[in-house]
Amino acid sequence: MSAIQIKGRYAPSPTGPLHLGNLRTALLAWLQTRLAGGHFILRIEDLDLPRSRPEYIDEIIRDLRWLGLDWDEGPDAGGPNGPYLQSQRGELYENAFERLRAQGRLFPCYCSRKDIAHAASAPHGPAHSGIYPGTCRHFDGSGDTPKNRHAAWRYRTHANAIELRDEISAPLIQVMDTDVGDFVVRRADGIFAYQLAVAVDDALMGITDVLRGADLLDSTPRQLDLLQSLGLPLPRYWHVPLLHDAQGRRLAKRDGASGLAPLRARKITPQAVVGQLAASIGLLARAEPLSTTELLHSLDSAALRARLIAAATSPDSRHATLA
Ligand code: GLU
Repeated sequence: MSAIQIKGRYAPSPTGPLHLGNLRTALLAWLQTRLAGGHFILRIEDLDLPRSRPEYIDEIIRDLRWLGLDWDEGPDAGGPNGPYLQSQRGELYENAFERLRAQGRLFPCYCSRKDIAHAASAPHGPAHSGIYPGTCRHFDGSGDTPKNRHAAWRYRTHANAIELRDEISAPLIQVMDTDVGDFVVRRADGIFAYQLAVAVDDALMGITDVLRGADLLDSTPRQLDLLQSLGLPLPRYWHVPLLHDAQGRRLAKRDGASGLAPLRARKITPQAVVGQLAASIGLLARAEPLSTTELLHSLDSAALRARLIAAATSPDSRHATLA
């Protein structure tokens, strides 16, 4: 019997140090993959070069290793599916872009460049607000358009409904033209948008299971639509609850949510952090220090999934007390 090799990934953006919420998601992605006997990939999402910093890449790698995670492929480990930095994968995105363009799925858009650049770079942009009004839809993308080097490129959505049957979160259906609208796949400054890059990368890297924060649930139908148009395989998705602070706000790098540095300064051990993170999402009854390997051996795939489903419907999974 030949089983498909499970492949998971963690794909941080190096726009700041990882906070505890990021680390919890990384830990869960690693557990899901390792419990399935799979292959784990670290991919650095530094497409938005102006916001990314090389020093954060080193810090992210150091912090993940400190916590006790390992990966089979990544920027520091190499592997057959590289490069593992999105900033070095432009040719692959270009290729997918040209294929979509040849299908007539893309059109250049000359509307409010500032807003477009902002929306395209944000992985967490909501699909339901600010639906593109279709102003530039009449361009067919074949070159008969106004000469303007600053056009963004949008994906022409159709009236198809895309259903996401998530492994953890409730099912989601989006009708692409009315719920999402034509979305940017390449910004006016030439940078490929997150939606295109992530879809292409997950497919080309052979990712079977995408475990990530529930803030990205909403953008998944866009990725599925692109994958279908490109004839690429669709992964399974596991959207897991985000960690919130004591005030109930979700941790965010831009709000200065603290990473591991202050904990390390206080000589808190990786085992203590792993125990707290695992308990915060119901993988342990009580927070007790343990290594990632010990946590891995205390679970199996079915238990992990059942506990994550339970956590997704419980507000308690939002808090970790690591003060
Ligand atoms: N790079 C994205 C982030 O750091 C995550 C993308 C993903 O997991 O699909 O928020």
